[in-house]
Amino acid sequence: MSAMSGDDFDGFRDAEAGFRWAGVERLNYKEEGSAPFKAISRQVLFTDPNLAGELRYFEIEPGGFSTLERHEHVHAVMILRGRGTCLVGEKTRALEIHDLVAIAPWTWHQFRANAGEALGFLCLVNAQRDRPQLPTAEDLASLRAIPGVAEFLDGK
Ligand code: MN
Repeated sequence: MSAMSGDDFDGFRDAEAGFRWAGVERLNYKEEGSAPFKAISRQVLFTDPNLAGELRYFEIEPGGFSTLERHEHVHAVMILRGRGTCLVGEKTRALEIHDLVAIAPWTWHQFRANAGEALGFLCLVNAQRDRPQLPTAEDLASLRAIPGVAEFLDGK
């Protein structure tokens, strides 16, 4: 069985211009309207029934952001393109190319691209994973009370 559905992947994929890979479909990040996010694409680079993980490439357009969420499964992220910021738990951090970010179970997280620059990153994730949980109004209020977090959430 092919490791990737929908094409004749033989174990090799050529990189293409613009952070694309041969035979890999560029998808919307999530179903529209399922959770708040802005201007993100997703490419699944590796998935295989014999592997417990999946490797994806996400790209957030300038000024865009991922959903603020938490879940049981973990993420390991490597920045490949541009600059941005992230919130992980109670900490916000500036992100540069080749920085690594690990997100532990049940940790609130969000990624934001800087104003004039797309933010692209590899994200390794469990193949079998739980559905993300979104913050309640109470969760948001607690997060916003942490120094620096309200500014981050407001994109400032
Ligand atoms: Mn997540």
